[in-house]
Amino acid sequence: MEISGIGEMTPGSISEQFNVCGNPNCRCKDPDNPQKHGPYLQLSYTRKKKSTTEFVRKEIAVDVRKAIENYHAFRKLTEEWVDLSIEIRKLRRQGYRKRTNPTTNKTSDG
Ligand SMILES: [Zn+2]
Repeated sequence: MEISGIGEMTPGSISEQFNVCGNPNCRCKDPDNPQKHGPYLQLSYTRKKKSTTEFVRKEIAVDVRKAIENYHAFRKLTEEWVDLSIEIRKLRRQGYRKRTNPTTNKTSDG
């Protein structure tokens, strides 16, 4: 997978909410068998130490779920990338150590 192909992404998870309304005669206030309104979808996530809950319309729920998937895929990729970079640096360090003349430190840049 390439980064440019990932598209939109969001942290968090989608959950279903059931609400009661302000109408005292509504089915959601039925004393015997209350039927709450819903399910409503909401997206909950914590970003920059601030937790947020967003209402998600059913029509875009599939897009938001995709964005959550993308986020996890992206995080997995970057974690692997970081791990790989650490590993490469470690190998490089070991390689330098084995060289007989450590003062020769020419770079091949440019
Ligand atoms: Zn109601």
